[in-house]
Amino acid sequence: MEFSAETIRLDLIHPFRIAREVSDHKHNVLVRISDDGLTGIGEAAPSRYYKEDAGSVLRALEEAPALLAGDPFELEATMNRLASRFPGDPSARAAVDIALHDLAARRLGVPLYRWLGLDPAKTPVTSFTIGIDEPETIRRKVREAAGYPALKIKLGSEKDLEIMHAIRSETDARIRIDANAGWTADQAVEMVKRLSEFDVELVEQPLPPGSPEDWRRVREAAPMPIIADESVLTSTDVPAMAGLVDGVNIKLMKCGGVREAQRLIHTARAHGMSVMIGCMIETSVAITAAAHLSPLADYADLDGNLLIFNDPFSGVAVRQGRLILPEGPGIGVAPRP
Ligand SMILES: [Mg+2]
Repeated sequence: MEFSAETIRLDLIHPFRIAREVSDHKHNVLVRISDDGLTGIGEAAPSRYYKEDAGSVLRALEEAPALLAGDPFELEATMNRLASRFPGDPSARAAVDIALHDLAARRLGVPLYRWLGLDPAKTPVTSFTIGIDEPETIRRKVREAAGYPALKIKLGSEKDLEIMHAIRSETDARIRIDANAGWTADQAVEMVKRLSEFDVELVEQPLPPGSPEDWRRVREAAPMPIIADESVLTSTDVPAMAGLVDGVNIKLMKCGGVREAQRLIHTARAHGMSVMIGCMIETSVAITAAAHLSPLADYADLDGNLLIFNDPFSGVAVRQGRLILPEGPGIGVAPRP
């Protein structure tokens, strides 16, 4: 199989601020794997928070060709080899995993969701994310997002309540909150109570990972479901969070791809948890790959491509907030004309 990797620069429509950082562009890595006249495409969206960047992804991918099987269908063995060689490079592994799923489903001539046995009519509504900003800018962004029935609002600054008032002055949309580990336990207990006045659907990652007794306190105080994101990377992180949260946010870039994401979803379900499928800032390649899994999720937060000005691909579409999966073989993305 032929293998190539290239870095791409993605420019964001608005500078994107969350509790811990702000950025106006992002470097991701595209992977292409070809075999027998067909090419599968994958993407790594590395995150500094998880100690990856485009350089570390490219370094890991230098060794990837030697670890591939001759057969794109040998996913279990291939991904296990990559996981033991690159335990700290989940987004690099996700790029290979997505490209192999694309290639194998193309070989079968079916869309990925069909190979996975999923119903494309069961995709959830995706939220559209509003980063931390001045209340006036937030109001404008909320007006721009009028077509989305669910918004994910980033909190975790000293302006949290001002932001919430600004948002509710503009919209009745479903509101999901993501604090990105930005609150202390006392702040989180206070905030989940205050947020109930704003009709909030759920609160994601109120606290930094660790400190189970703090998570328990917050969940007991919260009238809405609490979802873990930064606390759960792979399926092996789920049992420790059982009883502390109501659900988990699963991302291909944290867990290493479509294959581990399925394991993670089933592990979360086995612990009685709800499932959100989320993303980083990603092109339509990785977003569409995740969207093929979304019929297994209760919530989708797959808007990373919508925040990019220069997405080189088209794939999954969003209609009245709902994810519409492409019908082409594989993940079904195509270069934008
Ligand atoms: Mg999150």
